[in-house]
Parts: sequence; C-alpha cells; structure tokens
Amino acid sequence: MQSLHMHTWRCKHATGTMEEYVLAAIAGGITDMGFSDHVPLPDAYVYDKKSIYRVRMNMAELPVYAAEVRALAKKHRDAANIRLGIEMEYVPSQHEEVMRALRDVGVEYIILGQHFLEDGAYYPLNSTDSDRWLCLYTDTLLSAAATGDFTFAAHPDLIHYTGNNRALYIREMTQLCAGLMEAGMPLEINLHGLGDGRNYPDPLFWDIAGEMQAPTVLGVDAHGADEVWNKELVERGREFAAAHHVNLLDRIPEERMRKV
Ligand SMILES: [Zn+2]
Ligand SMILES: [Zn+2]
Repeated sequence: MQSLHMHTWRCKHATGTMEEYVLAAIAGGITDMGFSDHVPLPDAYVYDKKSIYRVRMNMAELPVYAAEVRALAKKHRDAANIRLGIEMEYVPSQHEEVMRALRDVGVEYIILGQHFLEDGAYYPLNSTDSDRWLCLYTDTLLSAAATGDFTFAAHPDLIHYTGNNRALYIREMTQLCAGLMEAGMPLEINLHGLGDGRNYPDPLFWDIAGEMQAPTVLGVDAHGADEVWNKELVERGREFAAAHHVNLLDRIPEERMRKV
C-alpha cells in the first residue's frame, strides 16, 4: 500500500512528530509515502474567514514544512520514498497565488480536499439549502479538476447531503465522477471518515463510483502517527470497496506524481 494522505501538527489539528508518522508507516510495511498537510491560504483570506478556517499552517511555514519533509526523505531514503505533497481546497480567487507558493517549494502532488467553498461554506451542511450547496460543491470540484493542478480527489463524497432529492444527488455525483475521471484524477475512499463513523465514505456515492469504475485508492488521512498504519481499518476499507464494486488501485499511477 501507498500512503500519500498524511497530515502534520502544523495544521493545528494533528498530533505527533512527522518522524513518528514515517516510522509508523515503515513499521507497517509502507515504503511509498508522502505528507499532504492542509494548504496554507494567503493571510488576507485567512483573516477574512478566520472564524471558519484557522486549522492550518501559516503561509510563512510552507518552506519550513517542505524542508522538514525533504530532511526526513533524506534521512530515511534507504527505507522509504517520502514525497512532498499538500491537500488543498479549490478557491478560485486565491488559486494562482497559492499555486505559485507551492511551485516555489517544489510540491510534488496536490490532493483536492474540498472542505469549504470560496464563500466559506463549511461541512457538514444543515439541510435548509442542501440542494443548492450540492450543486455548488459539484461545480467547484469540476472547476478544480479542469485546472489540471490536482493529482487525486480525497473524500469526493465529503458533502453531507441532507436534502431528500435522491435523483439530484445521483445526477450531481455521477457528473462529479465523470469529470474527475476525464481529468485523470483517481478518487479516494477516506479511511479517517470510515474509522470515525462520519457521513463519508457515503454508500450511495460509492455505488455510483463503483458502477462507473472510477479508479480509486484508499487514503488514511492520518492526523496522528497511530492512524498511519491500522491494519484492521485498511481491511474494512477494502471490504467497503468490494461491497460497492469499486475499481480499487494499489497506488496513484506514477505518471500523475510529478512536480506541480
Ligand atoms: Zn485535517
Ligand atoms: Zn486530509
């Protein structure tokens, strides 16, 4: 197994040292791994939205984070291949500025993890406006895919649709899967959500993705070293994938892993 979805204490809601994650992965037999901490957003954006989103590193920490990943990669190069990644939302007004910062530090892959939308909506949603948010969510992810900047899509089923228009949900998620597939972006069954009993992975979403045979990986989304290798949870993830006839890949195709 490959493990490209790992956070660090810098995002202010994960624990442990980065080296503990590396050692836990190696102990679990994972030799191909990467850190993908939550992206920092430009200061102006964070100040505006700080009541919604302050659980991430500051922009000034990005080079330090990159240097730390590189130092660990060097130290453990005989035992593992450790890459520098980031998990990020698509925020159109900030996208180019953030991409420049990521290129400056040589990020190797970007996971699309849409935890909020440009205007600050946050999940889980309350149900009053669920249909509208669902469509906005799909549009945002499809626009993100169209940029070509994202490597794969973490928890594409993050949106907690609480409306009662099942046909709309199926239509939107079918479009979403089709767009991600067209962009060559694998999907992710999120083990953090599975272990936590969250609304994702969403069984209906994965029926759709399974039916469409969308290429998919398991993602640990580790926020602590103890989550890096959880054999039982990985097994549950594989069973979940099988139950929904998901096209499960062992790893992200290497040609998608390149400097961004
Ligand atoms: Zn997180
Ligand atoms: Zn994550």
